[in-house]
This record gives sequence, structure tokens and C-alpha cells, in this order.
Amino acid sequence: VKQKAHLSRKEKGQTGCGTRLRVLANVGNEHEINQVLDLGAEGVGLFRTEFLFMERTKVPDEQEQFEAYKLAAKALGKKRPLTIRTLDVGGDKPVPYLHIEGEENPFLGRRGIRYCLDERDLFKTQLRAILRASAYGHIEIMFPMIANIGELEAAFQLLDEAAAELDAQNQKYDKDLKKGIMVEVPAAVENLKEILPLVDFVSIGTNDLSQYVMAADRTNAAVSGLASYYQPAVLRVIERVIRMANESGTDVSMCGEMARDTLVSPLLVAWGLRKYSMSAAGIPEFKYMARKIHQERFADLSGAIAGCTSPDEVRETLRRFAAS
Ligand code: PEP
Ligand code: MG
Repeated sequence: VKQKAHLSRKEKGQTGCGTRLRVLANVGNEHEINQVLDLGAEGVGLFRTEFLFMERTKVPDEQEQFEAYKLAAKALGKKRPLTIRTLDVGGDKPVPYLHIEGEENPFLGRRGIRYCLDERDLFKTQLRAILRASAYGHIEIMFPMIANIGELEAAFQLLDEAAAELDAQNQKYDKDLKKGIMVEVPAAVENLKEILPLVDFVSIGTNDLSQYVMAADRTNAAVSGLASYYQPAVLRVIERVIRMANESGTDVSMCGEMARDTLVSPLLVAWGLRKYSMSAAGIPEFKYMARKIHQERFADLSGAIAGCTSPDEVRETLRRFAAS
């Protein structure tokens, strides 16, 4: 696979029957962009901004953040998207100087958007930095851990306030900036019908979605079998998100680990997923394997998966299809 995968690096993502698949990269900082482009990324589907905070001993100020986002946006240019996820601390990503440690259940605590909506000044600083950087490339903004409409509206409100502050200072930014959310909390799936009309895109975060659907800590090896996206319950949730988003005409992608798992990609493609964001190391193989996907088999594959009752059975079924 390796050598052939290497050859397909520069080719665009598509299946064996020519269905276009967008293949984007997950990055943790602005300096990775050239490297991910070399590996064949068509843009960035997830910029995890928390690393910018974790690498420092104090909160990066607006200018520092602006410089980092601008550098990444310019490296990608006007055509390739840079999806910036707002600060997603808490859970397994503690930042000592932000004082959110000490919770009994950090994964169920003040993390992601919950923290940011509490710390409005810190959040607005980041929003202003992102908006300012949007004048230099094709930036999209993504909110993590959204569970309900109230959080989404509050985030939009702060984004509007940040934009009004920039207007007052005559600072430029992209007025058509696309806004979306991570779908990684089961409540967001239940609320999806109401959320979809409000956003430009959704991105499925399978790492958190799996742990929250199965009530199994993603960092606890003892329950890793439960916290798996091969669990039929998790797969059903994912299928629903893809279907609902596509039916409403809302852009949908996946940026959790599942996105780079080429065993499961025929199923995701069969369900209608066309946009995948992954650690860049997975891109060449993903593009190579995508060309082996053929739509004549979609009905059989999704039918066979619908009948599976365990992760092992799901895996076996996917392997059987891959080998035949
Ligand atoms: C996810 O939860 O799937 C995700 C992509 O976000 P993170 O792994 O950063 O929580
Ligand atoms: Mg997550």
C-alpha cells in the first residue's frame, strides 16, 4: 500500500466510480500547514486551537493568536479552507493557568464551549483574532461541544459582538465567514433538526461522540471496546447525522479518528459522507483506498451493517467486503 499510496498523494480524493471526496487535515498549530499540503491535504478541516494555549504559560493575547491564525490562513490561500475550532479545553486537555482542574468528572464538566461561554473576555479575544485573520484566507469557524440551541445562540451573539468591535475600529474581516459546530455530544444529534438551519456546516467528532453515546471514557483503556465507533449504536447515530445534514443541504464532514479508518470509509461513503478531515499522515492511504470504493456495493454493505449487533461483527463484515 505504501508505495502506491505515495503515488496518489497529489491526486484529488475520489472513489473508484468518480465520486469526489474532500480530504482535509487536522492540525494542532500554524506551522504544520506546509507539511500537510505536502501530504495531499486539500485544506484544514480542524485546527485545534487549544494547543496554542497549552504550549504557553499564560493566555496568548489577541495579537499572538491573530498572527498564528493569519499565518495558517495565508499558507493555505484563498481557495483551501482553514476550519478554526474555538478553544476546546477541559476534559483530557487541562491548561493549568486556566484553573479548570479539580472537577470530579472533567469530561462531563466545564469543557469546550461551556468554558468559553463562562469566560467571555477570553472567548471574545479569540473570536476577534479569528475574525481579523479571516481577511487573509478562507477561514471557517467551528464551535466544539455544542449540546443545545442556547449555547449556539450565545456563541453567535459573542461573535456578533466581536465583529461589531472590529467594525468600530475599522478592522477588516470576512463578512461571509462560515460558522459551524462539532457534533460530538449526543444531545446535539437530538437537537440537530433545529441546529441545522442555523449553521453553515457540521463536523462529526467521533472521538467524543463515541464516548458520550456509550458512556465510556475515551482515555480509559479498560473500556476502549465500548468507546468505539464500531459499536452499532454509535454507527446508527453517525448515519443519522450524515442523513439529516445531507437532507437539509448542510455541509457535513467528519474530523474524529474514524475519518482516517479506511476499513470503515466505504460505509461512510455509502451513507453519503463526502468530506473527511484527519491527521495528515493518514491522507495518502485514505486517497489510495478511496479509489477502491464502488457504489454498486453500497446497498449490500449498508444492509449487512444494519444487521450487525456487535463491534466484532461490524469489523468482520467490513473486512469481508474489503476482501471480496
Ligand atoms: C472528536 O471529539 O472527535 C474531535 C475531533 O475532537 P477532539 O479529539 O479534539 O476532542
Ligand atoms: Mg472532541
